[in-house]
Formats: sequence, C-alpha cells, structure tokens
Amino acid sequence: MSEYPHLLEPLDLGHTTLPNRVIMGSMHIGLEEAPDGFERMAAFYAERARGGVGLIITGGIAPAPEGATSSGRAAMTTEADADRHRAVTDAVHRAGGRIAMQILHTGRYAFNENAVAPSPIQAPISPFVPHELTDDEIERTIDAYARSAELARRAGYDGVEIMGSEGYLINQFIAPATNKRRDRWGGSYENRVRFPLEVMRRVRARVGDDFIIVYRLSMLDLVPGGSTFDEVVRLAKEIEAAGASIINTGIGWHEARVPTIATSVPRGAYSWVTRKLMGEVGVPLVAVNRINTPEVAERILAEGHADMVSLARPLLADPDFVAKSAAGTPEAINTCIGCNQACLDHTFSGKAASCLVNPRACRETELVLSPTRTRKSVAVVGAGPAGLACSVSAAQRGHTVTLFDAAEEIGGQFDMARRIPGKEEFDETLRYYRVQLSEHGVDVRLGTRVTADDLDGYDEVVIATGVTPRTPEIPGIDHPKAVGYTDVLRGGAEVGATVAIIGAGGIGFDVAEFLTDGGEQASLDPAEFFRQWGVDTGHTTPGGLTDPERPAPRRKVHLIQRKTGKVGAGLGKTTGWIHRVELRHRGVEMIAGADYERIDDDGLHLTVDDEPRVLDVDTVVVCAGQEPRRDLADALTAAGRRPHLIGGADVAAELDAKRAIAQGTELAAAL
Ligand code: FAD
Ligand code: NAP
Ligand code: SF4
Repeated sequence: MSEYPHLLEPLDLGHTTLPNRVIMGSMHIGLEEAPDGFERMAAFYAERARGGVGLIITGGIAPAPEGATSSGRAAMTTEADADRHRAVTDAVHRAGGRIAMQILHTGRYAFNENAVAPSPIQAPISPFVPHELTDDEIERTIDAYARSAELARRAGYDGVEIMGSEGYLINQFIAPATNKRRDRWGGSYENRVRFPLEVMRRVRARVGDDFIIVYRLSMLDLVPGGSTFDEVVRLAKEIEAAGASIINTGIGWHEARVPTIATSVPRGAYSWVTRKLMGEVGVPLVAVNRINTPEVAERILAEGHADMVSLARPLLADPDFVAKSAAGTPEAINTCIGCNQACLDHTFSGKAASCLVNPRACRETELVLSPTRTRKSVAVVGAGPAGLACSVSAAQRGHTVTLFDAAEEIGGQFDMARRIPGKEEFDETLRYYRVQLSEHGVDVRLGTRVTADDLDGYDEVVIATGVTPRTPEIPGIDHPKAVGYTDVLRGGAEVGATVAIIGAGGIGFDVAEFLTDGGEQASLDPAEFFRQWGVDTGHTTPGGLTDPERPAPRRKVHLIQRKTGKVGAGLGKTTGWIHRVELRHRGVEMIAGADYERIDDDGLHLTVDDEPRVLDVDTVVVCAGQEPRRDLADALTAAGRRPHLIGGADVAAELDAKRAIAQGTELAAAL
C-alpha cells in the first residue's frame, strides 16, 4: 500500500486517463527563445515525464505577438511554429508522458509598447500604457486563442491550458479596476466575463472533445477590486459549461503585494482557496502554490481540498518527485526551498531558468553526470553547499569520495541560513544531502579540521572551505557591544533591545528578521501568515484583502549601508520586496549613505548626509560581507599541489548557495 494513495490515484478524464494527480505547473523557463531551445526543452520536459508526472504544462506561449511577455518571445501563430514544438511533444510522449501547452496573453503586462488591454490603464509593474482593444481586435484576439489551440494540437500536445489568472489579459477583462469599457465587453459582470467564456467556447469548438483544456481561474486576486467569491463560483460554473476539462487555481495578480510562492509562505497555505470551490463544479480542481512535498500534496487531496495538485518549481528541483513518492523514498527528494533565486529571478532578468538546489535543471543536455571510466580518490574539504554538491555528484559518477568538515554538522553557512524565521525550508536541502551522501557511499568525516598534510595520497583535492566574515576597520570594532552575525546565529551571543546592523546585504536583512521576529512562526502557520499579510480567508471582500495585523517587533533595529540608494536593492528580484515590506512593518530603520565613525559605550557613531549621528544601541551586529577562506588552499599550493577551488573559497564576492552548488556540480562532472 502506497503512502500516497490519493496522490498516485489515476484520473479518468473520459477520453484519456492521467496516471496520477500531479500536474507540472506552467513555468516560463527561458529556453523557449534560445537558439537550441527546442532541443533543450525536449530534454528538460522528457526528464520530468520519465519521472512520472501526470500532466506537464509548458511555459506560457502567446496566441498573438502583442500578447507575448516581451517582443520576439514565444508565440504559437503559424504551422511553422507548431512544427518546431514537435521535438518537445515527441520527446515527452516517448518518455511516456503527457503535455499541454499553456496559452498566455499578457495584455497590459506585456513588456513592450504594443501591449494591449481592455482599457488603456497602465499596470503598476509596467512602464507601458496599453492600447485599448477595439471590438474587432477583441474578436480577432479570441480567434487567435482558438487558432493557437488548434496549432498546439497539430504540434502533438495533449491539451492546452488557458491562462486566466495572475493578472494577465483575461483577468484584466474580468476586473472592473482594469476594464472600464462601456460596450459588450465591459460594465456588468456578464459583459466582463464574456471574453474568457468566448475564448473557452471557441477553443473547445476548434479542438474537439478529445483534447484536454485546463482553465486557470483566478480564484483569489489579492488586489483591491478583484473578484468576489460569488463571482469566482459563477465563472467556474460557466467555464465548465463552456468546455473545460480541468480547472486550475490562480492565486494573486503579479502586482499583488502579498507573498504567494516565496519560501516564507507556509506549505500548501493557499489550498483553502481551491477547497472553497470543491463541490460547486463537476470537473477536477487543482490546488497550487508551495506544495513541495508528497506529504503536503497527499494531505491536500485526502482532506478534499482539491482533486489534483500542481507542482511547478518542485519539479525543477527534482524531476523524479513522483517516481520517488511512488517508490516510497520521499527522503530522497531534492526539495524546492521556494527561494526563487535560479528560477523566477532568472526569468525576470531575461535569463534561462535553473534551480538553486538542482543546477542541472534546464541544462540537461550540457551538465551531464555520466559514470566515470577512471575511478579516482577524491578529498573534498568543506561540507557547505559547494562541497556537498561536489561530493555527492562525484560519488554518483563512481569516484571514491571523502568529505571533511571541521564542524560537527554539514551545511557550512547554510546551517545558519536555515535558522532564520521564514527560511525553515533550507533544512530540507541539508536532509537531502545527508541522504545522498549515505546513498552514494561518501566517507563523511565531521569534526575534522584538515591541514595540508592530511591530504596526501588523494588523486584529486577539492577545497570548499568557504568564507569567513569580514571584520571592517572601524575604531572600536572590538568593543563588547560589537558581535559578528555568526556569534548571533550560531553562537547564541546576547543581543540587547536596541541594535545597529552594519551591512544591509542578504545576511544583514536576514539578521534583522531574526532579531525582530516575535516567534509567531508566520512561515509555518497559515492563519498567522494570512493575519500578518492581510488576507481575508473567508473571501468576503473583492480580491480577498483585509487589513494586516502585525505584532509589535521584539527589538528596535537600524539596518545600515555605506552605499547611497535603496537599502536592499541587491536582494532577489522577485523576493526583495517581501523582505523590505516585512522589515518596514517591524519598524526597522533603513539608513543608506552612512560613514562609520566608531563604536563605543554610547553606541554606533555615524555620519549620514554630512550630519553626525549616534545610534544609542545595546548591540552592533557586523554583517559586512565575506572573505574567501584560503589558508588550506594556499598551504597546498605552497607544497606544489594543485587543488580545485569551489564556492566561497574560490570567490567570496557575490557568493550565494546557487553559485556554490552549481560550481560543485560542474567540477564533479569534469573530474
Ligand atoms: P561555506 O558554506 O562557508 O562552507 C565551508 C565549510 O568548510 C564550513 O562548513 C567549514 O566548517 C568548512 N571548513 C573550512 N575550513 C576547513 C578545514 N580546514 N577543514 C575542514 N573543514 C573546513 N545563500 C543563498 O543562496 N540564499 C540564501 O537565502 C542565503 N541565505 C543565507 C543566510 C545566512 C544567515 C547566511 C549566513 C548565508 C546565507 N546564504 C544564502 C549564503 C550561503 O549559505 C553561502 O553562499 C554558502 O553556504 C557558501 O557555500 P560554500 O560551500 O562555498 O561555503
Ligand atoms: P553582501 O550582500 O555582499 O553584503 C555585504 C554588506 O556589507 C553590504 O551591505 C555592504 O554594503 C557592507 N560592507 C561591505 N564591506 C564593508 C566594510 N568594509 N565595512 C562596512 N560594511 C561593508 O553579503 P552578505 O550580506 O554577507 O551575504 C553573502 C551572500 O549570501 C550574498 O552574496 C547573498 O547573495 C547571499 N544571501 C542571499 C540571501 C537571499 O535572500 N537571497 C540572503 C542572505 C544571504 P556597503 O558597502 O554599502 O556598506
Ligand atoms: Fe525552488 Fe529555489 Fe529551485 Fe526555484 S531555485 S525551483 S525556488 S529551490
């Protein structure tokens, strides 16, 4: 008997049966427009199909050029387009999978001056004012959806998903805030939903009955003036009647200011949204967002919150999520930690997506861990992310690996990251590595500080000794008030009620959150999370928003940088705003353009905008970046050895776990 009977139960759609309840949710992966993109996408999706996912949905493909995310982005408008997609659908079918193409018209979110919308109202996240569609243009746009679906069928897809959420064109028609039309497409509710219903009807008419149509319905807009719950139910019924096979859940427009998928969102927190609709329609409903373990997925299905679950990023992190669940080895799953660092942050920077914990994602054809023909003995020093990734990948290839760390636990700096409230998921990466180290027979020697002499006799030596925190040259830096972030996060240093943090990088922000957190565990408790972010879980308000209720912060914190400009500007593209809003709510004072003068009994002395200022604080926490830890590498080099350097030991500037893990894996692939 499987541990996940609901997750692994087949789903009969009439004309076809899906083998289980897992949909791979749509993600734009940035290969759609790459020169060898179709070959790489074929490998990417086929690997997920082999891993057992029930139905794959591609990244959004525009039905018309003006609806693409930006100029020249992927569209499905001609037979030639359809023929190019054949490589993808054939590869997925050969791997035993099923794949649907998402049709996405961005409307006013298109990042180009040809953007169109029901009304010429600029989105807060776009620099362009959209052109107001004429009646004739609306008719042509609906036909373009139908044509695109027909071409998707020609390309060999098993279905399409019509993207009706996240604030894209369909949402823009439905919401009165973005649709001010006075013709048959605007005004009354009936008029505003005419566009999605016409799209749905014409697509179904064009593709026939034996083709999957998933409709992604915006069930909780999280913007002022969004849909009410009654409107969501009404639309769902009408969409079903118009021919949808499955209704997927959409949560929040892109411009919403409530986190929906970041790591600080509790697992499966939004499944209540789908549950509210259960029983209102006959077609299967799909729950979404932060479903990253088979346990969470199974619970959602078993408790009747949904008929299916959609996992997107978790399948970047581990293509074998379903296969490992079915095999009863969930501990072997490489869990998505919700960081967005290599997926969404890449997409929004115009780069190909990948995954922090799985650098092979979207690089399947290029980063190959093939079995080695020459088995070598490899010593890896440092069990931080770089050393862990290198050890596991080298051992997987057949090398004999010994991994050393001076600490009693694996993880290096990551072991501190996981202690930050809201970053509990980082624990999963360390669990994954522990399982992999054991599975691949790596000889792990913890509590062992290595010197150059200990490394004689190995064929290859990898130095992954990471970083040491930088101590800035500020008079009084050795004053008892001044402590380092490692003392605070790992050493249990006492921190007073008022604090100044020197350095406002990722670690400065994390330390500010750590010190102001009141222990409410908002990232683990959905009710607390929704209370703090102002989400109306009864969905009695249009859009589902209410006033946030924030607890009093535990400490008064000042977060300081020398640079002028916005504090936190270097944080993640898609998550930085969450950290900035969070700290604002907690009353943290952000100070930019500071010159540090000294630390003494009075606190931290600064000059800001040529004005002297004293922060009368109990504690000064230093988060001023890192230096590479190279003593061992230097000793080896001096002894005539040629060690490999990875992670922070190689370059500490702009180091993060994404680079550390990628570099470790790449080196292992080349050993
Ligand atoms: P390290 O993690 O520094 O590991 C080096 C290891 O080498 C250590 O375990 C050390 O004990 C060992 N070692 C050193 N010398 C010896 C020796 N002679 N013998 C034996 N062992 C030795 N990154 C992100 O990408 N995203 C985040 O959200 C994020 N959040 C963070 C939050 C915090 C609070 C902190 C502190 C860091 C965060 N980071 C984050 C950064 C990330 O953890 C580091 O970039 C990453 O750990 C660097 O990996 P590494 O393997 O190069 O080195
Ligand atoms: P960082 O982002 O480089 O920030 C270092 C901070 O210290 C900056 O604010 C810098 O700003 C300041 N600083 C540098 N030299 C200084 C000096 N001599 N005196 C005083 N201040 C100095 O590094 P980090 O915060 O240590 O983070 C390390 C890495 O971990 C980062 O690269 C980051 O990617 C990663 N990380 C990521 C996240 C995430 O959420 N994605 C979270 C945590 C950590 P000024 O020079 O302007 O003062
Ligand atoms: Fe998940 Fe982070 Fe990987 Fe994106 S980069 S898939 S959020 S672990």
